[in-house]
Amino acid sequence: MPISGTPKNNSSLDSDVGANSVAKARIVFLGTGTSEGVPRVSCLTSPDSNCPVCPDALKPGSPNRRRNTSLLIQREFDDGRKSNIVIDAGKFFYESAIQLFPKFDVRTIDALVITHAHADAVGGFDDLRDWTNNAQESLPIYLREVDLQVVEQLFYYLVDRSKQTGGGGVAKLNFETIDSSPFRADGLELTPLPVEHGKNWECFGYRFGDVSYISDASHISEETAELIRGSEILVVDALRPARTHGTHFTVEQAIDQALRLGAERTLLVDATHDIDHVPVNTELAKLKDSEGLDIQYAYDGLDIEVEL
Ligand SMILES: [Zn+2]
Ligand SMILES: [Zn+2]
Repeated sequence: MPISGTPKNNSSLDSDVGANSVAKARIVFLGTGTSEGVPRVSCLTSPDSNCPVCPDALKPGSPNRRRNTSLLIQREFDDGRKSNIVIDAGKFFYESAIQLFPKFDVRTIDALVITHAHADAVGGFDDLRDWTNNAQESLPIYLREVDLQVVEQLFYYLVDRSKQTGGGGVAKLNFETIDSSPFRADGLELTPLPVEHGKNWECFGYRFGDVSYISDASHISEETAELIRGSEILVVDALRPARTHGTHFTVEQAIDQALRLGAERTLLVDATHDIDHVPVNTELAKLKDSEGLDIQYAYDGLDIEVEL
């Protein structure tokens, strides 16, 4: 049974970082798109396509360019050390990293936390070799036993290192299995938020401090809603408008969840090419007046200061 709420600045929980306290913290959206990413190649190659979003996504700096949904949690301590925790490393992880890691001074990945073992959350594991070959000794990865079993099938040589064939070097990953109890990654307490991601299939979101992050959900139980309540920031998936989907919320459903969960600010992720960033956010901004709801789509590279 997970404990509810995460105490903020609780010094007794900070034992592994010693007396060093957090001077500054931020979250950075490494990706905000659905599994296939945006643009969709078939929109770019079809002579009949009238999709306005995919061609726009190719323009430099377009907020419609979306890689797989993923988040960086960066804390900077009093002594200047930075801690970088990444949630999910999917198919486009490498591309997110080359765009955003130099910009946000991310040299090491101090922990990787996984929501579930779909390709858009674990498909980038092979690329982690660059970090353990060149930037750090090893890399702890927190995931459920059920997800580790899938990772073992996808990347057998990363889980059982005796199966390596030599040459090139593979990532040195330390897999730490978790259940729904709160755990600590590089000194940061995370509370798992079990959610339904399709019928009868569970996936984890995470709460850390006053941020609740849910990248893949189609239903949130009342038990998990209790763990989220009181969050300042809620991140939640909103695939596309109207047409319902088995494994993700639609925009309308995400708005309902935002109203239900009552965070001060809600940011939407996991968007398909049906979402044209600027016009959709202009529409969503009207909910501030009508419902008192601060809800917007995030974009790749968006960074927000948080207290951790
Ligand atoms: Zn398109
Ligand atoms: Zn998924």
